[in-house]
Amino acid sequence: MGRVDLKVELLRYTPEPEEIVAMGAKLCYTSSDLDELKEGIQKKDQGPFVNKLLSMGHLSPVEHASFTFGIEGVSRSLLAQITRHRIASFSVKSQRYVGEQSGAGKDGVFNYVIPPKIIDLGEEMVAEYERQMKTIQGWYDFWQEKLGNNGEKSNEDARFVLPNACETKLVVTMNARELLHFFQLRCCNRAQWEIRALATRMLALVKEVAPNIFAQAGPGCLRGPCPEGPFTCGKAKEVRERFSQLNHG
Ligand SMILES: Cc1cc2nc3c(=O)[nH]c(=O)nc-3n(C[C@H](O)[C@H](O)[C@H](O)COP(=O)(O)OP(=O)(O)OC[C@H]3O[C@@H](n4cnc5c(N)ncnc54)[C@H](O)[C@@H]3O)c2cc1C
Repeated sequence: MGRVDLKVELLRYTPEPEEIVAMGAKLCYTSSDLDELKEGIQKKDQGPFVNKLLSMGHLSPVEHASFTFGIEGVSRSLLAQITRHRIASFSVKSQRYVGEQSGAGKDGVFNYVIPPKIIDLGEEMVAEYERQMKTIQGWYDFWQEKLGNNGEKSNEDARFVLPNACETKLVVTMNARELLHFFQLRCCNRAQWEIRALATRMLALVKEVAPNIFAQAGPGCLRGPCPEGPFTCGKAKEVRERFSQLNHG
């Protein structure tokens, strides 16, 4: 197949995520018992409960809502970054069980991501990048053959010559508290372009199903002055404008 683009979908999430968070808040701050909680909390009352928690920084009830994303068209470089987030669960396409032989893809080359800055350099440079990927495919096939082309046993060593550009697919689950933290770090202009693009798409998706929880989510400059000190991008106004118009389309 060769070149691939980012694809991200919200596969599953806690049903009525804002209601379960509001239930946690109601239990903390009112004399309600479980029977009252089980009667549910009306939509119009959920927002104020959620907003109260967020404004107080009382974030543990927000952990009751979880979100699971399916992600394709991302590089192994992104994988190294996203898996640094420890309060998350990951299932990642295995390079041991799934081979990358040239026969496996449509265009005779493993799937890979191409950085936008290389695309901006023009067609000739893109063609050069594609040639390099094909060369690496040749190295991979060479080692597969030398190692006996026997599935998992040869995949696990032949993969050592594959690049960071190689595509991976993953399923990721994070609770809303971890997502708020993840969006603060990874939607910021300081984050690398690929994980920033992914985080921004994930934010747009969860905003649709939990608008109160994620109303202020994103880089720190959405909620006050830029917290990045000397590393600031200096574009807080532009960033605020962009995130105010965020939707997943
Ligand atoms: C712009 C940028 C540049 C980066 N550059 C580098 C780099 O050069 N080298 C590098 O190695 N990494 C780098 N990282 C990754 C970074 O160091 C973190 O590993 C990553 O962002 C995960 O964030 P976290 O540890 O805050 O949160 P998570 O793992 O998502 O955890 C969330 C929060 O839980 C708490 N927590 C989790 N585990 C523990 C624990 N064991 N003890 C105490 N508290 C815990 C912390 O409060 C933490 O903030 C970079 C990240 C960014 C955003």
